[in-house]
This record gives sequence, structure tokens and C-alpha cells, in this order.
Amino acid sequence: MCAENCETHALLYIKDSYPIPISTVCSGCKLCYKICPTDAIEPDLKVIGWTYTASAFNIDLFLGELKPAEARSAVIVNKLMGNLERVIKTKPEKYDIVILDTAPGAHCDVEELINGADLVIPVTEPTRFGKLDLLRIIELIDLLKKEYKAIVNRSSLLGYKEKFLKELEEKSIEILGDIPLDEEIVSSYCQGIPLMDEKSKFDRDGAGYKSFEIIFENLLKWGDFSK
Ligand code: SF4
Repeated sequence: MCAENCETHALLYIKDSYPIPISTVCSGCKLCYKICPTDAIEPDLKVIGWTYTASAFNIDLFLGELKPAEARSAVIVNKLMGNLERVIKTKPEKYDIVILDTAPGAHCDVEELINGADLVIPVTEPTRFGKLDLLRIIELIDLLKKEYKAIVNRSSLLGYKEKFLKELEEKSIEILGDIPLDEEIVSSYCQGIPLMDEKSKFDRDGAGYKSFEIIFENLLKWGDFSK
């Protein structure tokens, strides 16, 4: 019964022997445990990943990590969203803005986070693959009826920027701005200091800084962040 009904085929049944559990594909749904007529299955705990929080620069980070070889990132995403919702419910004034940073692609975790967002910012690159991925995610955003504006990352890559921006314009895809390949952005990332932090010593006239400034200004024009 359990092997027949297990959605993820996590129980292997060979006639005249006990079912063999394959824990790497078990989703933890507990169906086998509930339907077993002889209570032969006991619930147990299995660690598939971790969630934790960290704070820096007046920003709280809710982080999730999946154990290597585990495929069910949705469990971690749901746990993180639950943690976040709990904080927002108990202290609604705590955050002005919540940024949900998703993995690349258009899979169900991404769909769930887009669904919970007011505004969506797909980040792309000026390559053929980047364009195809962007068009796919826009299809999903449109299906979920959300507002979006894109950011073109590593825009100076391969000298393809102007052509790429023109293609986006032809498809009526609005952008918040583009971020060129820039040494200072790499330094900011490696040092763990936000490029636009007041006390940072990054060059305010540099191409990287300017690109972030433009994106920031366009963001303020686009969204009502005063609520
Ligand atoms: S808990 Fe669910 S997924 Fe795991 S073995 Fe039982 S029925 Fe299959």
C-alpha cells in the first residue's frame, strides 16, 4: 500500500520482502505512516538543510541552505517565508522593504516568491541564454499579473550591450538600469561592503557606482516605498 501510494516513489517494494525506503527522494509527506494498517512505519526526523539569520548594515538576512544532494529546496523556501512572516506579523513596523532573492530560472520556488511580491526585478545578462531566460521569466511574471522592470547585469560583457538593450526595447521590456563589469563592484562584493554604503570609500564617479545610483533613482520613481 505504502509503495503504491508514495507520490515520489521513495518506497521500493519487492514481492515477499519489506518495503525499502529511499530517503533521498522522500518528501516527508507522512502518507505511508498514515495509511499503514499495521502501524509499521514510525515518523522520524531527517535534516535536509538549515535556515539562519544574520544582520549587517541595518539589513537582516534570512538565509537558507540545502544539504548537498538534497533536491527539495521548496522545504527551505517555505521555512524561510514562514520565519519572515512571523517577524512581520509580530513587528509589522520592523521592515520598510523586503527583498526576496530567488535562485535563477522559472521553477516553482521562483513562482512562489514572485507570487508574494509587489514588484518583480528580473536580472539578466546580455547573452543569448540571458535573453531566453528573461523571456521565460517574464512569461511567468505576466501569468501571475505582477509589475516588473529588468536589470541588465554585466552589461559590458562581449560588447553586446547596445544590441541587447535595443532588443529589450523592441519587446517593450522596461529596464531599471544596467550594471557594467567593474573592478569596484568586485571589490565591494569581496570586502562585503555595500557599494553605496555612506561610509564606503568607493569612487562615486566610477561606472559601477553610477550604475547603482541610476537603478536606485529609477526604483524610487517606480515603486511607492513610502508605505
Ligand atoms: S513520507 Fe511520503 S514521500 Fe516519504 S516514503 Fe512516505 S509516502 Fe513516500
